[in-house]
Amino acid sequence: MIPRPLIVVLALVLAACGLTRPPSMDAAEEDSFEDDVRTARTLTEEFWKQQFDRLGETYRPIADFIPYSGTSGPSCGGEPSVPNNAFYCPVGHFIAYDQDWMEALWNEMGDGSVYLIIPHEFGHSVQAQLGTGFELNVQMELQADCYAGGTLSALVNSGALTAQPGDENELLLSLAAAGDPTDDWLNPAAHGTAEQRQQAFVQGYRGGVGAC
Ligand SMILES: [Zn+2]
Repeated sequence: MIPRPLIVVLALVLAACGLTRPPSMDAAEEDSFEDDVRTARTLTEEFWKQQFDRLGETYRPIADFIPYSGTSGPSCGGEPSVPNNAFYCPVGHFIAYDQDWMEALWNEMGDGSVYLIIPHEFGHSVQAQLGTGFELNVQMELQADCYAGGTLSALVNSGALTAQPGDENELLLSLAAAGDPTDDWLNPAAHGTAEQRQQAFVQGYRGGVGAC
């Protein structure tokens, strides 16, 4: 299911960054799920603020960051939120996520899942701010995966995050499982195949968000 060459490629990319062997993606040890979620949000927004500053633009922080359980999530433009999802809502400029679903991924796949899903959703918030238009939903999704890769490599390179051997596998596994299934996220036409998503992530990881 996960093509080996891409894992090798990403492993090489990570190895080339001179990564050491701390216990997790985080600089701090043994973070809780809540710690990881908070850190992923904070670092991702700091990263994008810097990117916008560099371009002389003003980054607009998201208006809200909303955990929910099951069907208790906020609606977006009249559409109810659904279980097992994370999404960016352009109408309210907020991100919401099913915390039970995300914590289950965190338990099963490791903290890499959180550091993929949250930067992916912030990628959508950046697309909205940049007014990026796409003919196909899949293009938008793959760019968000690319943005997530670019965000993570920048955070790893700056030392804000560290990665341990295995984190890259977590990330790639998460790509196959993660998404914002306001549409059918198992449908390759909606988000891209697992291989396409990995390629998009690696493209951003190697080339930075400018390559997306
Ligand atoms: Zn998405």
